Amino acid sequence: MTDCLFCKIIAGEIPANIVYQDADCVAFRDINPQAPTHILIIPRLHIPTLNDLESENAGLMGRLVLAAKKIAHAENLSDDGYRLVFNCNADAGQTVFHVHVHLLGGRVFGWPPG
Ligand code: 5GP
Ligand code: ZN
Repeated sequence: MTDCLFCKIIAGEIPANIVYQDADCVAFRDINPQAPTHILIIPRLHIPTLNDLESENAGLMGRLVLAAKKIAHAENLSDDGYRLVFNCNADAGQTVFHVHVHLLGGRVFGWPPG
């Protein structure tokens, strides 16, 4: 996907503060953080939205969440807690159409979310 911002970050064409990467995922700090820790974890595979997931992506998405757990531990968030958020399409406010999970932590979050 040549026109995707997150694919460009994966390719190193756009700089990002990368905190973790493995064979499946890349994680980097959000440019507009909504909490003291705000990291985006993305699959290397370009998938536009959650609606595009297929059963063959189940392992990949599981590994994405496991990467988030590992990063939360590295960021010292495991005990106090953290939030993982996937936004899908307009009502959820998705702005970048490459599946990503937000890892948010370092403050107390309200529920229900806004
Ligand atoms: P969404 O609203 O699609 O769930 O989240 C997209 C996120 O990407 C937003 O939190 C936004 O701040 C972040 N973002 C947008 N452009 C860039 C960028 O160029 N670099 C980084 N690190 N984050 C970005
Ligand atoms: Zn992409």
